[in-house]
Amino acid sequence: MYDLLVVGGGPAGLSAALNARRRNKKVLLVAKETISSKLRPAGRIENYPGLPGVSGPELAERFREHAVAAGVEIKKEEVINIQPQESGFFVMGKNEGFEAAAVILATGAPQKATLPGEVELAGRGVSYCATCDGMFFRGRDVMVISQLPAGEEEAAFLAGICRKVYYLPEYKGEYNLPPGVELVNGKALRLEGEGQLERVVTTAGEYKVAGVFLERAGLPPEQLYPGLAMADEAIQVDRRMATNIPGLFAAGDCTGRPWQIAKAVGEGQVAALSAVQYLAER
Ligand SMILES: Cc1cc2nc3c(=O)[nH]c(=O)nc-3n(C[C@H](O)[C@H](O)[C@H](O)COP(=O)(O)OP(=O)(O)OC[C@H]3O[C@@H](n4cnc5c(N)ncnc54)[C@H](O)[C@@H]3O)c2cc1C
Repeated sequence: MYDLLVVGGGPAGLSAALNARRRNKKVLLVAKETISSKLRPAGRIENYPGLPGVSGPELAERFREHAVAAGVEIKKEEVINIQPQESGFFVMGKNEGFEAAAVILATGAPQKATLPGEVELAGRGVSYCATCDGMFFRGRDVMVISQLPAGEEEAAFLAGICRKVYYLPEYKGEYNLPPGVELVNGKALRLEGEGQLERVVTTAGEYKVAGVFLERAGLPPEQLYPGLAMADEAIQVDRRMATNIPGLFAAGDCTGRPWQIAKAVGEGQVAALSAVQYLAER
């Protein structure tokens, strides 16, 4: 059981975790990627005080090293659901679950359903987790549409159980795909089907598949915690970075604009101190 669990390994999450450790709390940080997908492509950062011209990956690494040196435990895991329980929260990852008395969400700019047909067909062929749902498509054809290189691992896993796996990357770079996974060089346009997914329409043609796995930088926050109040597509917080759920705080891009590192770091610190105060008052 942790005092505090932080979801997200970007500037906000690492700042929150570091500051909670400075108050001697037992802190676990759970992040889908070891380096934030926002900081990875950031070449030169000129507006972070004291470090002019620092690259995104270097700043991310410095933040991470600082948090680890302070005693923050970090796990690479995607959180798919958070539930209240008597002692605080149960945080469910794709592979593992964790208990914590308080939680800070630092999941980055909120994701929304972006493909026409996605909302209607969610759970009817549209999935966000190959580990959870892959077996439903055993021996059938599927497609992975991914914003992140992590989608390549999902495709490799699915290649072991599905008949055919198509991989449509929404990022640039080298693709490390095993045999049996076919690369689709196109843009996904929409998902179609009568009550059940039947095909994915892309600029490279139509693909008849039984399942599509969407690998996104993050899930919509209200999907992580049903009942979480949102405002203008961001998590609604007060000046203490408290959400409408007691014990659940939020910081960084997920609370709204400006989407900037200094704002994320500052909010992470406020959220950590508020969480520490919440734990003391409980
Ligand atoms: C190309 C580029 C250049 C930029 N340049 C600048 C700049 O010069 N100056 C500046 O101030 N800002 C810049 N930014 C913006 C800056 O990167 C963001 O504002 C900042 O990273 C936000 O930090 P964050 O911690 O809120 O979110 P993020 O950095 O997006 O981190 C979110 C974290 O949450 C994790 N996550 C999400 N969902 C889950 C889940 N369900 N389970 C587990 N983990 C999850 C992600 O994997 C990630 O680790 C730039 C952004 C980009 C894309």
